[in-house]
Amino acid sequence: MKVEENLKRIQDQIYEACSRSGREPEDINIVAVTKYVSTKRAEEALQAGLIHLGENRDSGLLSKWEELMDEPEWHFIGTLQSKKVKNIIDKVSYIHSLDRLSLAKEIHKRADKPVSCFVQVNVSGEDSKHGMPPQEVEGFIRSLNDYPNVKVVGLMTMAPHTDDEGFLRKCFRTLKGLQEKIHSLEISYAPCTELSMGMSNDYTIAIEEGATFIRIGSALVGND
Ligand SMILES: *Cc1c(COP(=O)(O)O)cnc(C)c1O
Repeated sequence: MKVEENLKRIQDQIYEACSRSGREPEDINIVAVTKYVSTKRAEEALQAGLIHLGENRDSGLLSKWEELMDEPEWHFIGTLQSKKVKNIIDKVSYIHSLDRLSLAKEIHKRADKPVSCFVQVNVSGEDSKHGMPPQEVEGFIRSLNDYPNVKVVGLMTMAPHTDDEGFLRKCFRTLKGLQEKIHSLEISYAPCTELSMGMSNDYTIAIEEGATFIRIGSALVGND
């Protein structure tokens, strides 16, 4: 399928999810996750009008960056080893996987201006997922005071792979509640207005629960 056709279908779904929940489609940013596909396919995504591209490894990001450079807004969405920060820091607009202080310290050290970061939260409690438990998020964000190049624009989660809609909703709702709480603290470096949640199989639910960045791979650009 052409990216353009997939995008059209997804946009219809976004539109419907927004009307069900009283939201505006303009408030939903689509991050096309290109980790499974070629640079050529990523280029097709840009031609279809997508702006945000997401990669989960530094190698994938760097190889696509060689050709596409800063034409897209790059999102780093995967687990990030501290030693890899220097490779990607001047190329990405967003990091979705901030989950520990040592990583914040490295981002602060390597960046020459504030970097938009999402704190990754493990809301479902599944131990196979990365991210910190919800109860640690506020303390973690307060401790970022020492690293002004880390700007907390929002929270991110990866929901478990399940068809249990009620459970997914509960996960997304928990993240939304936490985001509102952090936002209300009015911490200068943590506006925390954004929610990065929702993937190919759950993005409509995520939108109904408040997502502002949805990260879509398989359903948009494919996975082969
Ligand atoms: C791969 C990946 C996605 C996209 O997954 P799909 O199910 O293919 O849409 C989203 N977020 C993260 C963090 C990922 O690693």
